[in-house]
Amino acid sequence: MALVGKRRKTRQIRLGQQSIGSDAQVSVQSMTNTRTQDVAATVAQILALESAGCEIVRVAVPDMDAALAVRQIKERINIPLIADIHFDYRLALASAEHGVDGLRINPGNIGEERKIKAVVDCAKAHKLPIRVGVNAGSLEKEIEKRYGATPKAMVESALANIRVLENLGFYDIKVSLKASDVERTVEAYRMLAPLTDVPFHVGVTEAGGLYAGITKSAIGIGMLLAEGIGDTIRVSLTRDPVEEIRTGFEILRALGIRKRGPELISCPTCGRCNIDLFKIAEQTEKALLERNAQIKVAIMGCVVNGPGEAKEADIGIAGGDGKGILFKKGKVVRKIDQDCLVDQLLEEIDSMTKDAEEINGKKS
Ligand code: SF4
Repeated sequence: MALVGKRRKTRQIRLGQQSIGSDAQVSVQSMTNTRTQDVAATVAQILALESAGCEIVRVAVPDMDAALAVRQIKERINIPLIADIHFDYRLALASAEHGVDGLRINPGNIGEERKIKAVVDCAKAHKLPIRVGVNAGSLEKEIEKRYGATPKAMVESALANIRVLENLGFYDIKVSLKASDVERTVEAYRMLAPLTDVPFHVGVTEAGGLYAGITKSAIGIGMLLAEGIGDTIRVSLTRDPVEEIRTGFEILRALGIRKRGPELISCPTCGRCNIDLFKIAEQTEKALLERNAQIKVAIMGCVVNGPGEAKEADIGIAGGDGKGILFKKGKVVRKIDQDCLVDQLLEEIDSMTKDAEEINGKKS
């Protein structure tokens, strides 16, 4: 049985150069945590996110200074930029005028219809999509009073907000339904999925620090993607947002949906290991983050199970007594002293990937 079910059918929208929904690939996004008006810091963070593979980035626009800064930010980055707006519709108008690629609003907290209409007219004029970002922590008062902060309430809020936009003739919509726990998040998306064809941005919001955040995101986003639900994803961590992108791609890789960069397989070590494998694995993992080749690398603690367990890998090492045994495709190549193991392994990886690139270059 396939790990990932058939992808949910949606309408397709455009966000800058990016297609979202329908048969477009599931894309990985993040949000900056710099002050948006600090253009240098925000651009530096977005460029770091781009290097990690980020495909869409959102910035908070809490005031007019931030809205005015988006033009300078946009000019210096390469991926679509979304302005995240709450309450003040004029910030959405200013962000649109200053070149963002998309808006994230919650019509419920923008207020009067004339303000929502002004945002919609502006989005139409600039060809910008709008994400309706429903959050269990900030539901419309009447809906929360009626249903509590439940998946049902989140779905009602989303449907009401989609209706508001569609009644104004606006259809370039994406929706997110986020709660801080996996159960409500997954249930809300499952409930909404058969009721609309708008693409979904999925994630578990305010998921927590590294361990809780990664775990909740992997389970929540993973369950939904496995059911074919989700067109863009964001892992939410109380960390450097670059970690969100790395985690997002690992979730996609684990599900077999997309691959980016090298894959590292490493054993947990046991009493058979006579080499400092933790350090070797950590250094290798860090170095592989700088490489883009799709290669499978194994770091194993011993020869008993090492090459055999990792024979699926393209290259790897198995620990011996203060030495490592280099192997390729499960076959032993040579022994290397522990001290120069990581350097030599990386040299081999670079040479293998360079060879592969040359062969591919000749073919094309
Ligand atoms: S590869 Fe060797 S050291 Fe690592 S867990 Fe397996 S048996 Fe233990």
